[in-house]
Amino acid sequence: MKKKKLIAGNWKMNGDIALAQTIVDGIKDAADQSNHDVVIAPPFVYLPQVALWAKESKIQLSAQNLAKFDQGAYTGEVSGKMLKDIGCQYVLVGHSERRQYFGETNDVVAEKVEFALKNGLTPILCVGETLEERESDAWKSVIEAQLSSVVQRIGMEAFDRVVVAYEPVWAIGTGKSASAEIANEVHAFIFCTLIGKSDSIRDSLRILYGGSVTADNSAQYMAMSHIDGVLVGGASLKPDVFSQIIRSVE
Ligand code: PEP
Repeated sequence: MKKKKLIAGNWKMNGDIALAQTIVDGIKDAADQSNHDVVIAPPFVYLPQVALWAKESKIQLSAQNLAKFDQGAYTGEVSGKMLKDIGCQYVLVGHSERRQYFGETNDVVAEKVEFALKNGLTPILCVGETLEERESDAWKSVIEAQLSSVVQRIGMEAFDRVVVAYEPVWAIGTGKSASAEIANEVHAFIFCTLIGKSDSIRDSLRILYGGSVTADNSAQYMAMSHIDGVLVGGASLKPDVFSQIIRSVE
């Protein structure tokens, strides 16, 4: 059976309530007509309202982060339990901006994946190398370590549910996307690394590409054998462009 692809939009810390409504209204048709999964990740504060607007559509909801606790005296944090409560199905974990600006290590990311799974959320686990790591040919060991911290903490059964997003740090928000061939090579590496540990996920594991995806290049990624969808940042804030990206997936 062919895997359903996944098209996800990460709004990051952008927009306001008016833009949130414009995006939801603007992508509804494309999402409803798609045979694939369409997911948006608005900022926390807009999630409940967006959940209501998206209710009658096929748009699914993701948060951009979650706490590594379920509840308690953790001022400013939001738990997986709360996200599930308001209708989230997915959560981004370990986005490179979380790793870079908020000190999230591989261990913290693995803990968060555990809390997401425990609360019935599908984690979108972001992995990827910096420019320096790519140029020094360290990308394989970097990505291997990012994956293996999750395997060590939770076991391979985590990957029955985890979606992996390959997001080369040098391609995020820079306009410099990885070529479809380079992305596919890394996706094949991720696929083989995980399949080598558990063949049972061969038909279910989804690996997304993220990094300056636009309506002009999305079809090239989607055509690649190991690319099962895209994680889109900047372009997901433009409903017409995000709709075109959704429609580019056959
Ligand atoms: C992202 O934030 O996950 C991302 C891929 O951003 P952009 O598409 O803007 O590069």
